[in-house]
Amino acid sequence: MIQITMPLNFLGSVYREIRQAMIDMAEMFNLLEQPSEVSDKSGANVLNVQGGAVRFDNVRFGYDSEREILKGVTLDVPAGQTVAIVGSSGSGKSTIGRLLFRFYDVTGGSVSIDGQDVRDVTQDSLHKSIGVVPQDTVLFNDTIGYNIAYGRPDASRDDVIAAAKAARIHDFVKSLPDGYDTQVGERGLKLSGGEKQRVGIARTILKNPPILLLDEATSALDTETERSIQAQLAAMGQGRTVITIAHRLSTIADADRIVVLEKGQIVEEGRHDDLLDQNGRYARLWAQQAAEDNAA
Ligand code: ADP
Ligand code: MG
Repeated sequence: MIQITMPLNFLGSVYREIRQAMIDMAEMFNLLEQPSEVSDKSGANVLNVQGGAVRFDNVRFGYDSEREILKGVTLDVPAGQTVAIVGSSGSGKSTIGRLLFRFYDVTGGSVSIDGQDVRDVTQDSLHKSIGVVPQDTVLFNDTIGYNIAYGRPDASRDDVIAAAKAARIHDFVKSLPDGYDTQVGERGLKLSGGEKQRVGIARTILKNPPILLLDEATSALDTETERSIQAQLAAMGQGRTVITIAHRLSTIADADRIVVLEKGQIVEEGRHDDLLDQNGRYARLWAQQAAEDNAA
């Protein structure tokens, strides 16, 4: 008996590791829509997160040498604070997130966490420290329970349920024929954009990382669900460093700081009220959205 189960257990754990690695890759492809172009430098250290202070120091970056996307961005996110990035589509907001995750290396300046350049630490430790809620969550062909637990594979069913409740997806899961054991993804039940997004949020709640990167995390949700999840995300953000890329400005009005990015440069920053008083780019974006909301 022992002779048989030992190698099987061993194979099982190898299998799980390979599978986890493949899923990590899949998530990377999702966030980036292309493979990672960086590798650990020899002797890279494990990232030592103290409070999770994030700093972009005069960062320059382009996906190709022809076109610079970020043109000298300096951004300080003190440990435990929430900074929101707003700006027109294509201004470089998601690129900032990809550089923090080090899917690409900067061409100028540096990105660091608690004083450690992201190029000097292992990608594994970097990725473990940052929870990303992307615009479009990828589901794996597995159970919905597995898909939520993907944020922390060793989580118990109770932990999964608690995270699902916080992400407002538990009642939906309970209504499925096999509950948390229901197969989802391409070969199973198809979830709507909003349901997938809530799975992504539950995953991140379960992963419980010190740094959160929310890239238009609630954009696929209806206003009411968005409001309730936004409250949950705000609660999750307590005591964490949060970078939130906002679609709807009303969701970030109480951020510690709002940064307005245009064409790869920060053109304004401050708190919501100050920015409205300045009557500049942010005030115009705000008025524009209020008009759109009224029209809707
Ligand atoms: P935002 O999130 O503010 O809408 P992005 O950071 O996604 O903007 O993109 C900024 C610019 O970089 C856009 O002009 C976009 O077309 C370009 N871009 C984004 N991803 C890639 C990529 N993988 N390869 C080449 N260009 C890209
Ligand atoms: Mg974007």
